[in-house]
Amino acid sequence: MLILLKSGVSATQIEAISARARELHLVPQPVRSGAQEIVSLTGQTSGIDPAAFSALPGVARVMMVHAPYRLASREFQPADTTVDVSGVRIGPGQFTVMAGPCSIESQAQATDAANAVKAAGAHMLRGGLFKPRTSPYSFQGIGENGAGLMDEIRARTGLRFVTEAIDEDSLSLIEQHAGMIQIGARNMQNFSLLRRAGKSRLPVMVKRGMSATLEEWLNAADYVLSGGNPNVVLCERGIRTFNTHARNTLDLGIIPAAREVTHLPIIVDPSHGTGNSAHVPAMALAAMAAGADGLLVEVHPDPGHALSDGEQSLTPDRFNAMMKQLRALAPAFGRAM
Ligand code: PEP
Ligand code: MN
Repeated sequence: MLILLKSGVSATQIEAISARARELHLVPQPVRSGAQEIVSLTGQTSGIDPAAFSALPGVARVMMVHAPYRLASREFQPADTTVDVSGVRIGPGQFTVMAGPCSIESQAQATDAANAVKAAGAHMLRGGLFKPRTSPYSFQGIGENGAGLMDEIRARTGLRFVTEAIDEDSLSLIEQHAGMIQIGARNMQNFSLLRRAGKSRLPVMVKRGMSATLEEWLNAADYVLSGGNPNVVLCERGIRTFNTHARNTLDLGIIPAAREVTHLPIIVDPSHGTGNSAHVPAMALAAMAAGADGLLVEVHPDPGHALSDGEQSLTPDRFNAMMKQLRALAPAFGRAM
């Protein structure tokens, strides 16, 4: 149960609402959706009459939400969300492409990648400064040394970065330079990091954990949303299965399933979803057909020498060819690119 509060509600009124909840053996928790202040109630709400709260001072509306996640649900918000990243829209009617290397390696590599993806029509640049690598001996990213690069590339190309925060320190640095914060698959259930992202003024992309259900993924989104940050984008990036033909199994079937229950935009990462650059274009086109709002895709100026994920990175030429195919298909699916 959600108690939506009137704007200008006082702390005393919120305390009175919370006290009423405790009398009814419910646990009240203040949360925020953008500017909307809310008291979220947990406990045995099924037998509770909304009238127990609707007449209290400061209450605008009482809402029953049955899903375990709340703010991400269509029960809370029926209409699709559009997330705005410094003028780049992600949501219905758009197909937003974020492309670039897995890792930012150097100024020259980042500049070449930015120029190439911009020329091909990408809307945003991707690239990790902080890399969560399976092996502690693999390249860990250039870290804070790349922060200035994000400003430089934006000034020259206009492209905003989506880049991963692996902990609260890297998030605090990234939010001063990037356009959108990426929460990686490995951190989808890092609840303190999600809460910190909920306090950021930047939009947040939550990648699906490699073994996460739809419900777990949307609960992760709610950790961010309930901190007051309404700008959350979901990213399907493939899950672990028994398959050996691909790095992950890209679960495009989750797109229509997620659409039914959440208003948040959904993008697809066919690079980590396949692990093989030769398979990326087919899955990118399929993602558009399945109803995705865009792509996160790895492009490297010289994949053979990439410091991470070269085998799944498209060359600029191959990316350009894929973008042409996507643009040809987009009108059929009511998407602008
Ligand atoms: C990435 O996008 O660079 C990445 C590490 O992805 P994931 O978290 O999906 O593995
Ligand atoms: Mn990668």
